[in-house]
Amino acid sequence: MIDPELLEVLACPVCKTKVREEADRLVCAACGRRYPIREGIPVMLIEEAEGPTPGTPAP
Ligand SMILES: [Zn+2]
Repeated sequence: MIDPELLEVLACPVCKTKVREEADRLVCAACGRRYPIREGIPVMLIEEAEGPTPGTPAP
């Protein structure tokens, strides 16, 4: 669970859209990239992102 205030300031580094929490990922609604959350810390790195489908690389 990510702190709602932290979630509020996080944005997708690719398209600057706000992300939403979904299970253990933060998902960008615009481009569909999924960012991992490691030990409670969101990893907002393009290189770490997964594509819209789990297990696939980012487009
Ligand atoms: Zn995005």
